[in-house]
Amino acid sequence: MYPSIEKLQKYVRLEAKNGYDNKAIIGGLASMLETWESEARNDGVAEEVIQAVTGRLRDYERLSPESRKVTLFGIGNRLKREYPELGSEKELPKADAPPTQAEDKPSEQTQDEAAPAKITESAPQQENVEKSTPTHRPARPRSESVPGASTSKTPIALNAKLTVLQGVGPRNATTLEKLGLFTLRDMLYNFPRRYDDYSQLKPIKSLWYGEQVTVIGNVQSVTGRPIRGGKSHITEAVIGDGTGALRLSWFNQPWLTNRFKKGMSISVSGKVDQYLGRLVMSSPDWEMIETENLHTNRIVPIYALTAKITQKWLRKQMMQVISYWAPKITDHLPDSVRLTAKLPRLDTALENVHFPKTQAHLKLARERLAFDEIFFLQMGVLRQKRDWQSVMGRIFDVPEEWLQARKDILPFTLTASQDKAVSDIVMDFGSGRPMNRLLQGDVGSGKTVVAAMATEVIAHAGAQTAIMAPTSILAEQHYRGLSQMLTAGEDALKEDEIRLLVGDTPEARKQEIREGLLDGSIKVIVGTHALIEGNVTFADLQLAIVDEQHRFGVDQRAALREKGENLHLLVMTATPIPRSLALTVHGDLDISVMDEMPAGRQEIDTHVLRPRERERAYTMIRAQVLDGKQAFIIYPLVEESEKIEARAAVEEHESLQAEVFRKLNVGLLHGRMKAAEKEEAMEKFRAKEYDILVATTVVEVGVDIPNATVMLIEGADRFGLAQLHQLRGRVGRGLDKSYCLLIPTDNNDTENERLLAMAESNDGFVLAEKDLQQRGPGEFLGTRQSGYSTGLRMASITDIDLIEKARERAQSIFVQDANLEKEEHKLLGEALDNFWGNTKGDIS
Ligand code: ADP
Ligand code: MG
Repeated sequence: MYPSIEKLQKYVRLEAKNGYDNKAIIGGLASMLETWESEARNDGVAEEVIQAVTGRLRDYERLSPESRKVTLFGIGNRLKREYPELGSEKELPKADAPPTQAEDKPSEQTQDEAAPAKITESAPQQENVEKSTPTHRPARPRSESVPGASTSKTPIALNAKLTVLQGVGPRNATTLEKLGLFTLRDMLYNFPRRYDDYSQLKPIKSLWYGEQVTVIGNVQSVTGRPIRGGKSHITEAVIGDGTGALRLSWFNQPWLTNRFKKGMSISVSGKVDQYLGRLVMSSPDWEMIETENLHTNRIVPIYALTAKITQKWLRKQMMQVISYWAPKITDHLPDSVRLTAKLPRLDTALENVHFPKTQAHLKLARERLAFDEIFFLQMGVLRQKRDWQSVMGRIFDVPEEWLQARKDILPFTLTASQDKAVSDIVMDFGSGRPMNRLLQGDVGSGKTVVAAMATEVIAHAGAQTAIMAPTSILAEQHYRGLSQMLTAGEDALKEDEIRLLVGDTPEARKQEIREGLLDGSIKVIVGTHALIEGNVTFADLQLAIVDEQHRFGVDQRAALREKGENLHLLVMTATPIPRSLALTVHGDLDISVMDEMPAGRQEIDTHVLRPRERERAYTMIRAQVLDGKQAFIIYPLVEESEKIEARAAVEEHESLQAEVFRKLNVGLLHGRMKAAEKEEAMEKFRAKEYDILVATTVVEVGVDIPNATVMLIEGADRFGLAQLHQLRGRVGRGLDKSYCLLIPTDNNDTENERLLAMAESNDGFVLAEKDLQQRGPGEFLGTRQSGYSTGLRMASITDIDLIEKARERAQSIFVQDANLEKEEHKLLGEALDNFWGNTKGDIS
């Protein structure tokens, strides 16, 4: 029994009968909240419900009768859902016209006979059209509005355009579109950028001299007057907050005197000072406050804005949408999943993520929404994997002796990890299913040769392979290495059966290559994004390899895959990610991990130097060059820019050659050079014509010059650890002791501390974890994330516990009902489709 709920229902009915004049209860509806709250708690009413009721009613007095009606309807609806057994809803108020503007004709909302169960809430505008008597219809249970709708599903009206909102016309709607807000659903998921927490404010009475604070108060007086014989002007104001008064002053902003009005609420931030024994604040930052925020929402959401709309206006629209629509949302997560994961319901989470009552509510809400994202991501990758495995892939059998013969030609013995990766691939080739494999191995672990062996298998069978790398330098290097390897030995390819295609390849040669790929005479093509251009077509592409796959967008990898039919795919990366994360982010792929370095590798000696110790670095470089070795010097930018005082490669190259290394040959390589020039610079460095290569990060990925033993990185503070690790990986690729020297832009101790992690570890995995902590997932996953960047707005991939939880739940549902066809999973299926939108094809 819930006497408190029945009581509430009674009040609500009374209020409806009185036409929402807030007189049903003496002192207004809100006045009974405190008593009611404790009664409800005594009755054992769910905390969520209590909060939903009190949160809505606290502000009741200030609402228009129309909004009051909507609010009470929302509460009635909520109670009905939570306590159907109380069943007196027939007398609850019926919001026959939710805040709408009935501008748009109902479009997709026509009743679909075939799927009546999908619609329980008809779109508001549809109701207006259908309705014959616009006012006071007899109240009836909401669910009867669509025949046959017994189970409540997410209202289809969430797809309605924003013009249905009061106060949003076509012009505002267009503005909102700039923020990616097209439908009511978009609004629900338009999470605040941050929150202003007014509950954490300090009262004036407890301010301390010298303290840096934000306080809020009402303006009690304002004066402006000239001082210093008219040379300056001072505006003085006093604000009070009931606990005390604070004197504020601003100099030479005479207009302020008229901006402040007595009684106005403002927030001021600054340092508390003392003047003649009183607390004062001099030239504080200040902002006008919307009073209602202070009283009602102590934690106020701040949304992303665009020109022509204000925070206040948008917040009002958000409030309108959330308070009316959030309670109508039926949770797509089955209770079993939600309860096991200890998460709040979706409606509660949506309400609390926008208008949280406390930080604790907010935290729970965020957790719930993040859970959904990971859950959907995982469901998506599991499906993707199943789909890929459901088609046939061509079988390539690999005779043991043949494979061994090819290995024997290599100048080194494969590591056990490499051997394992090769046999994983050979197994995939023989499985009759397309391979979808991720080859993960730290920088320098020798991934290229594994890819080359896979290529040989396919070429041997007469089919085609495409290898895509993120830079022309790397493509060129792979082309060179592969040509050498594949044209050697008994079962060799001819030289012109392997070609290179990059953006800068001359048009005539491009044309010739395209023809060769189309007629099948080219067996192996190595290149950059140029490979996925529309006019590149293959006769029989059976293997696609993507090197440094995190450098490519999802769509680019998908485009390469599209060049063949059910082809075998191998993607390679040096980005090490924790296993639980890998299973979520790369859950659609099989993974081969190479956790071993080729024999004889030594740790790279890494030092962080202060800028004034630069000469020491130069000395070391000279010594290494004298020893026949080579060095890289990396600069973060190509040209000097006003804003960033990074030392530019071009200028530095000149002065290094002219002043520091006069007797040595210093080469230059940067991103703005033409592909042919880059190629030439690399070639000269490889041929030891250059002792030192001054470069930008164009050499970051993949570049392999085993004779280079020193990597000097200027402006090291501008790089993430993972990137530094990649750069450092350009040395130490041979048997010789190698060195990495990091010089930050200035003597910033915290920066240096961060960089020290590099000196402490040579393990990409450890550094990646550190990087994740320091810089967050966006940087870490790079463009790879783009495939679902809209999807992961709440979840942070650093939250391994949450990921694990969501992954387990998704896995278990997938096992039971992969297509989400069971009745209890229907909503989940819809939500999943929504999450993934129209993206078809690759996920990872
Ligand atoms: P990454 O995994 O970073 O792409 P690479 O494939 O470029 O690494 O290999 C790094 C270097 O190690 C290359 O110079 C390559 O020739 C060499 N290498 C690869 N495998 C072995 C091995 N088993 N033994 C010795 N050197 C190897
Ligand atoms: Mg590589």
